[in-house]
Amino acid sequence: MLSLRGIKKRYEGQWLLNGVELDVSEGELLCLLGESGSGKSTLLRITAGLEETEAGRVFWNCQDITDLQPNERCFGLMFQDYALFPHRTVAQNVAFGLRMKGLPRHEVEQKVTEALKTIHMASFADRQVTELSGGEQQRVALARALAPDPHLLMLDEPLGALDHTLRVSLIHELRRILHGSGKPAIYVTHDREEAFAIADRLAVLHEGHIMQTGAPELLFKKPVNAWLASFLGLGNLIKAMSAPPNTAAVTFGCFTFAESINLPEKSACVLLFRPRDLLINAQPLGAVNTFDAKVIDSVFMGDYWQVNLRVQGLDLEAHSGQSHPAGTSVTVTIPPEKIQVLPQ
Ligand code: ADP
Ligand code: MG
Repeated sequence: MLSLRGIKKRYEGQWLLNGVELDVSEGELLCLLGESGSGKSTLLRITAGLEETEAGRVFWNCQDITDLQPNERCFGLMFQDYALFPHRTVAQNVAFGLRMKGLPRHEVEQKVTEALKTIHMASFADRQVTELSGGEQQRVALARALAPDPHLLMLDEPLGALDHTLRVSLIHELRRILHGSGKPAIYVTHDREEAFAIADRLAVLHEGHIMQTGAPELLFKKPVNAWLASFLGLGNLIKAMSAPPNTAAVTFGCFTFAESINLPEKSACVLLFRPRDLLINAQPLGAVNTFDAKVIDSVFMGDYWQVNLRVQGLDLEAHSGQSHPAGTSVTVTIPPEKIQVLPQ
């Protein structure tokens, strides 16, 4: 459906987008995730035709649409500050794009009613938008974007202005509405929790490229490199030096892995292991991947205790079934099969 090929954009001599390749297929909810300033909004604006690309092409159903005007593309855009017209009713706001298309009045009314039903706000049609809560306004903005029946919907940090509790409750509703509409959509966010909650497929934008794309589970299980693992908050990351076939040296000792590593001798790499895989006082010191540690503190998280540890100046996080008092000396063990070796 949508294909971006080799998209490039630079500002002040710096490449913001440096050959972006991205596809969105039919009915798919793609989440574009990246740090603030990574170029997500710029990529959306190029896709929408609001900004020109310096190189590369935009395709829709294999047709080159790079030189088409925004209104000729039939793509819907929804921004963070949703920019509803404050002195109009909900229905008038949703009707906006339909009027712009020059649809006859009865058709506009019918489509507005449909759009309001989709967002479960049919009874709000005659309310002023200023009387709505932030979450309701956000849903109206979504209805406004959906009403003209766009080929593709693009949402740029749509929940960014809302508080955390509201975001959590809205994200699932948004996912249901978008899936229900059957429209392909690009959902942009810098928030990884939001990304995991909404995406069929994730694409991570970093340093001008799509660094990795795939199902959320794939990125969670097999991040391509240390930067991505850190950005996604996947767990403990320690710098190491490879010692094939299956060990690596770190500042405080040596790690052994279950599988051989695919790296030359003495390559800089990063070890990733998840907090739940770090075992406290499970093995005597001297057993494989077992080190002396000091407990910094234990924080009750509901289903587990987050135990913050220090191993020779290095901070590690463990998830444990029990609390460990601050200051206690413990051993920590990381089973060899639970360690991933990532390129730096
Ligand atoms: P994101 O949406 O990921 O936060 P943006 O696409 O908004 O990133 O832009 C990233 C950076 O690109 C901005 O921090 C800014 O430095 C630069 N930029 C974007 N638009 C312009 C512009 N029109 N002129 C100059 N620099 C720009
Ligand atoms: Mg942005």
